[in-house]
Amino acid sequence: MNLDPRVAFVALGSNLDEPRVHVLRALAELSELPQTRCTGHSSLYSSAPLGPVDQPAFVNAVARLETQLEPRELLDALLGIERTHGRSRDGARWGPRTLDLDLLLYGERQIDEPGLTVPHPGLTARAFVLYPLAELAPGLAIPGAGPLHTLLSQVDPGGLTAIED
Ligand code: ADP
Ligand code: MG
Repeated sequence: MNLDPRVAFVALGSNLDEPRVHVLRALAELSELPQTRCTGHSSLYSSAPLGPVDQPAFVNAVARLETQLEPRELLDALLGIERTHGRSRDGARWGPRTLDLDLLLYGERQIDEPGLTVPHPGLTARAFVLYPLAELAPGLAIPGAGPLHTLLSQVDPGGLTAIED
């Protein structure tokens, strides 16, 4: 399946201060961005944290947007929403965060600029992104990385469970 040039997918993640509430609020805020409509979102998932830091489980989801914002404008808007959720960037990489918003895909675009890489580099290996994305777009091909179903077959879904909204 090819992507409409104005369709973007955004990953949401939180593991601090009532993570589910942060994710639900952020979904509402995405739909209020200028020149943008949120045209669907996955279930919410609980996932075990990555990396070395001992920290709470994450709540993850993926949203589908239709937007007239350019990729850089959309990224800036996402980082703005992160800030309103009190995200501080002085913590450890992989550390706990109130809200992480990643621009996963923007149409078929492949972008590699300082501060903006699309498709998002973590996308292809993260079960907590691939499974929710597959709910929204099961037949998708990831630009530069191939069919979503192939990527899904290569990740370990252990630690990932769908939760109620
Ligand atoms: P991660 O989400 O990889 O754990 P951070 O959220 O701390 O790490 O990193 C955010 C930085 O990554 C931002 O300052 C942003 O400029 C950069 N970045 C590059 N590409 C993307 C993208 N596709 N989506 C979100 N942030 C991106
Ligand atoms: Mg991020």
